[in-house]
Amino acid sequence: MHQIIIIGSGPAGFTAAIYAARAGLKPLLFASSVAIGGELMNTTDVENFPGFPEGVQGPELMQKMQEQAERFGTQVAYEDVVDVDFSGEVKRVTTGDGAVHEARTVVYATGSAYRKLGLPDEDRLSGHGVSWCATCDGFFFREKTIAVVGGGDSAMEEATFLTRFADKVYVIHRREELKASKIMQQRAFDNEKIEFVWNAEVTAIHGEAQVSGITLRDTVDGTERELPVEGLFIAIGNDPRTHLVHGKLELTPEGTIAVEGRSSRTSAPGVFAAGDVIDPSYRQAITAAASGTVAALDAEHFLAALPAEEPAAAL
Ligand SMILES: Cc1cc2nc3c(=O)[nH]c(=O)nc-3n(C[C@H](O)[C@H](O)[C@H](O)COP(=O)(O)OP(=O)(O)OC[C@H]3O[C@@H](n4cnc5c(N)ncnc54)[C@H](O)[C@@H]3O)c2cc1C
Repeated sequence: MHQIIIIGSGPAGFTAAIYAARAGLKPLLFASSVAIGGELMNTTDVENFPGFPEGVQGPELMQKMQEQAERFGTQVAYEDVVDVDFSGEVKRVTTGDGAVHEARTVVYATGSAYRKLGLPDEDRLSGHGVSWCATCDGFFFREKTIAVVGGGDSAMEEATFLTRFADKVYVIHRREELKASKIMQQRAFDNEKIEFVWNAEVTAIHGEAQVSGITLRDTVDGTERELPVEGLFIAIGNDPRTHLVHGKLELTPEGTIAVEGRSSRTSAPGVFAAGDVIDPSYRQAITAAASGTVAALDAEHFLAALPAEEPAAAL
């Protein structure tokens, strides 16, 4: 029986592991079998994580977080969690190899996935002009011409924010009207750096080392044309990775795991959630890391409050 199992190997999971390990809880962390290290593995320069004045590559930052967690005794298992049972005092976590792991507490830090366009060069050019996060990457597009795909509030927000840096921002939308709220739309319409391209979808992204342009297909007449841009921001939605906990943990209307106030406490006692999987708004590495801290401390307090007759030797 473990005292704490952590599911997820992004900034939230590894930070929870650092705290739990330093508290002597010997965490077992499931990192996934393929997507180890979380979303920052998909990017290049990270310039907004404190402590790295020259910036740091996303994969290097995650490697350092893992090393720091392991240094204090975290056991990292390269397995996918495929099922969870949070119904009893003993939490059960099943991994892809069929093993069932038991723990007094669980930190659920599985992150969230940005929706992709599904184009062949999208992943290859991620961090090289293709981005899902204006807050993270807008700064790299000073005086450039870029495009934002999407028609909702987040697309309008990203496009408007990006005009602080870029000279020109095309908003590509597959229909003739936006889903975004009227106020967000108006803000974008009023911005002279933003030009809307209606009834258009991106069918290809071009560029060797860096994005150099996109192909647009007219959704009405099917004609195609090239648009030279140096950046492509994809703002078509984000899905918290909650499929394993549907019906087991309470979710918010946005689809994130519901937590109590500023804590990480979920609707199941002893289960704590952290990072992008609870966060519909901020979704940054540093906020995820901070959230991992909260989860580890909450788990620690939960364990400390367990009745004294709990068989400590079995933990
Ligand atoms: C392209 C890109 C660039 C970004 N750039 C920046 C930036 O410059 N600065 C910044 O602050 N933020 C940036 N972000 C945002 C940042 O990456 C996220 O906010 C942060 O990684 C969220 O951390 P997390 O730990 O909550 O989740 P994630 O990083 O998503 O990690 C979750 C982990 O859990 C694993 N997992 C999920 N389900 C299971 C399961 N069932 N079993 C085992 N493991 C599982 C996943 O494989 C993943 O490794 C960027 C995001 C993207 C996509």
